Amino acid sequence: PISSPSHHHAWDGNGNGIIPPTPAPKRLDGKVAIVTGGARGIGEAIVRLFVKHGARVVIADIDSDAGDALAASLGAHQVSCVRCDVSVEADVARAVDRAVARHGRLDVLVNNAGVLGRQTPAAKSILSFDAGEFDAVLRVNALGAALGMKHAALAMAPRRTGSIVSVASVAGVLGGLGPHAYTASKHAIVGLTKNAACELGAHGVRVNCVSPFGVATPMLINAWRQGHVADDDDLDIEVAVPSEDEVEKMEEVVRGFATLKGPTLRPRDVAEAVLFLASDESRYISGHNLVVDGGITTSRNLIG
Ligand code: NAD
Repeated sequence: PISSPSHHHAWDGNGNGIIPPTPAPKRLDGKVAIVTGGARGIGEAIVRLFVKHGARVVIADIDSDAGDALAASLGAHQVSCVRCDVSVEADVARAVDRAVARHGRLDVLVNNAGVLGRQTPAAKSILSFDAGEFDAVLRVNALGAALGMKHAALAMAPRRTGSIVSVASVAGVLGGLGPHAYTASKHAIVGLTKNAACELGAHGVRVNCVSPFGVATPMLINAWRQGHVADDDDLDIEVAVPSEDEVEKMEEVVRGFATLKGPTLRPRDVAEAVLFLASDESRYISGHNLVVDGGITTSRNLIG
């Protein structure tokens, strides 16, 4: 007998009758993940979502106090933090070693740690940027991602499985959206993703990236603050936790630019894209850059 599907029961699609409802699956059940820069912002949202989906997570962050506090709040059996500067190879190797020693293997690396660099007009111009600052941004964002790929792949390749997901940016796709070093570093991540996907595919390891548009994290809000100071002497205005008021104002600015009208881009939206690429649901996807941008990269009417 044929019954019609209802919202309580799903038709199995093969004419074989009704299958019972299943609880929302834990999409990373049993998997072990490292999230760099996982102590706050987008990284924190990734850590929270991964934990909800059953992963055991190692946060690798220079701010180990914030990382330890987040880990403790989420449950020490499932989450821990290791102090790690992603631009220092020994730190990255140690983070991978820690995950393997603690949990027996590594399934997922999220290269999320990143820096924007100074946002003053002089610092942002190709006519006046500082070579040392340029180098510092490239070291964290580009070299950091490459070192993560290297050491994660060394742990993953022998098991012939693994997923590496890096957080690039819309500034890794288009010009005119960030300081030169930042744009160069994010284009570098997209390129590294393609190259590493070519090489690591033979070892069963997938490599992808996500490219968010503006998310009201401490990074973006500190940048916005810097853009509004009169001179460089006032640049010491970084905050780790912006006020709700500032977050709302920043979100409004971003909404104004987005092509898709309605939703506000939140850290969780980026985390959902990372979750998909980390999980086995994306098992045939490698070398891809998934933009999370409300359609902005499809528009010719961009910022400014
Ligand atoms: P954030 O500054 O709020 O958080 C970054 C985290 O990375 C912090 O916990 C910080 O301690 C850590 N970190 C910084 N340098 C590090 C290093 N050398 N080694 C290890 N950890 C380090 O930034 P966010 O907005 O959450 O950004 C996360 C990622 O998303 C970055 O790669 C950023 O470029 C990218 N992104 C952000 C936006 C945005 O609008 N916020 C848009 C596109 C892409």
